[in-house]
Amino acid sequence: MYRYAWCVPSASNVYPDISLFDHSRVTAALAVCLYEHPKWARERLPGISPERLRQLEDTEPFLLVKGEISGIQSYIYRIVRTGTGGIAKRLRGRSFYLQMFNHQVARLLLHRLGLTLAHLIYCGGGSFLMVLPNTEPVRDQLQQLVEEVEDYLWAHHLGELKFRLADKPLSPKAVFLGLSEALQDLELRLTQVRYRHFKALFRENRAVEREKPWESIRPCPSCRIQVVESGAELCETCETQQQRIGARLPRTGGAIFSADTLPTGPPEIGVDWKKLGKTRLADVEALYAAYGPETMESVTFNRPDRIPKTSLLFVANVVPKNESSREITVPTERDDEENPEGIVQRHQTFSFSTIAAWSEGDARLGILRMDADRMGAIIAQGLDHHGLMSFSRMATLSRQLQVFFEGWLRNICEDYTVQEWRPKVREERILCDYADAIQSIFYVVYSGGDDLFIIGPWSEILPLALRIRDDYRRFTCENPDMTLSAGVIVCKPKFPIPAMARLSGEAEDRSKVRGRNRITAFGTTVPWESTDGEWGLRELLGLAEQWTRWIRDDKVPRRFFHELLRLQAQAVSDDAVVRGMWIPRLIYRIHRNIPDEAIAAELHHILLGRPNSLALLRVVRVPASIALLKTRS
Ligand SMILES: [Zn+2]
Repeated sequence: MYRYAWCVPSASNVYPDISLFDHSRVTAALAVCLYEHPKWARERLPGISPERLRQLEDTEPFLLVKGEISGIQSYIYRIVRTGTGGIAKRLRGRSFYLQMFNHQVARLLLHRLGLTLAHLIYCGGGSFLMVLPNTEPVRDQLQQLVEEVEDYLWAHHLGELKFRLADKPLSPKAVFLGLSEALQDLELRLTQVRYRHFKALFRENRAVEREKPWESIRPCPSCRIQVVESGAELCETCETQQQRIGARLPRTGGAIFSADTLPTGPPEIGVDWKKLGKTRLADVEALYAAYGPETMESVTFNRPDRIPKTSLLFVANVVPKNESSREITVPTERDDEENPEGIVQRHQTFSFSTIAAWSEGDARLGILRMDADRMGAIIAQGLDHHGLMSFSRMATLSRQLQVFFEGWLRNICEDYTVQEWRPKVREERILCDYADAIQSIFYVVYSGGDDLFIIGPWSEILPLALRIRDDYRRFTCENPDMTLSAGVIVCKPKFPIPAMARLSGEAEDRSKVRGRNRITAFGTTVPWESTDGEWGLRELLGLAEQWTRWIRDDKVPRRFFHELLRLQAQAVSDDAVVRGMWIPRLIYRIHRNIPDEAIAAELHHILLGRPNSLALLRVVRVPASIALLKTRS
């Protein structure tokens, strides 16, 4: 049904914006809730009398449930660069592990309640929202689930990751008229839960159990939280993320979520969530074969066309890997401690040093963080403002966002690689003699809900950000409220991951503080496109291109742009003595350093002669830094 009805409107007489698929599944879920409720169970709905309906309208047959894993970002990015296994492999594995955990918990809850996925309004970005029957057994099961999830998180992550869950009973009246308030109240309840994490563990005094003798305790070099078994390099959790998921993920076609807790025989690829069941990674062909009575769902990743009998799950598992059938020898791989031969096997992920080397000019990484502006307000107020709030509309909106951030993002990365990056290799602006073996030069660390974190060659990261933003504009039909804010940093490939995450996060925050719908790069915040008096990223990238060409063609010396940056710092500084002095100095530099008169005149015009020249000076760090980095050999 997803496949055929996702884009068919459920009603075309009012706002045709809800998909028939979402509308139908939400309606089915609401009907089940009524059917399960003691007061509603025996009512014959089509023939119900208006008086009886009034009697029932204040009963609460629905239970709105939100579950959330917190601490995700700090957990993913706190990964430590250690000699074992390759950080590029583990980072993606860690992010995927959390994504699967969220899916597993949501599915397990429904499985235990004997309910279908129709009740799952959304699931992504580390949280899920459901509408369940408001009955005693359901509430008991929620309680049990929270305790089991906390047990798992405590045993494997010692409280670094937390799970919280809140519920809110709803009347039929509230479903139609008070859904926004109910959702806000649910969020409030969720924040109150925050202070009661691991309650059961502490109550039963199980939190401090440790069976191992002290002398055998050695902390895991990757997470620095868990204890490593003797003889092992990493703790069990890191090992799972690294070997079983990270290494396998690039060639996995799908996954099977199951509720079975039996110990597994032969080594399987996936995660054993202990009491919470298992998630197995499988090739598409193996999905059927592995289907058992405890199977909750089997999903195909990213291929709506592949197998009609499994569900579809969009997973942004985009990493630069060797897609050819031969092994590739790459000198930069040797920088990586664990790959002294520098050989990248088929399906293997390239290291960050190699990704950096795919840049134009200086070999550096670009780190992009991006997120949708005001998404909470759009859901809570935007939909409600027009009296349009409904479960199915919300389900459609969040599923569509998922299609973009978890599905379409892959196309953007791959398309960029083919359309923009490979031609640069052909023109020898970038040196890489195996470009055809790479489908994506970008490493998507995380993309879910409404935000993303991508690592790529520095020279390609800003054009990629612009492309994501352009596609998002088109995807949202140019809705002026649906915008993206981004932050970019450029760093060496050996830069610690936690610092990458923090600095790019701070850059993103600056974009938000300065009015959102912006990008911050090279410490400078600019809008995506030029407006009156402000230079946008698109135009600045155009300038950077022109300046790079001038340097390459020996028309303008590099030192001119160094000088320009120095003068810019003077111009924007508060020192009253030098204020204004930059103008004659700049004019002097232009005509002194640039022998080609036509180019000198053009540069003079761009930097000083146009109405928006002063505005350019404020953001000139962006094109000048790009031109300088691209021409550094
Ligand atoms: Zn560990």
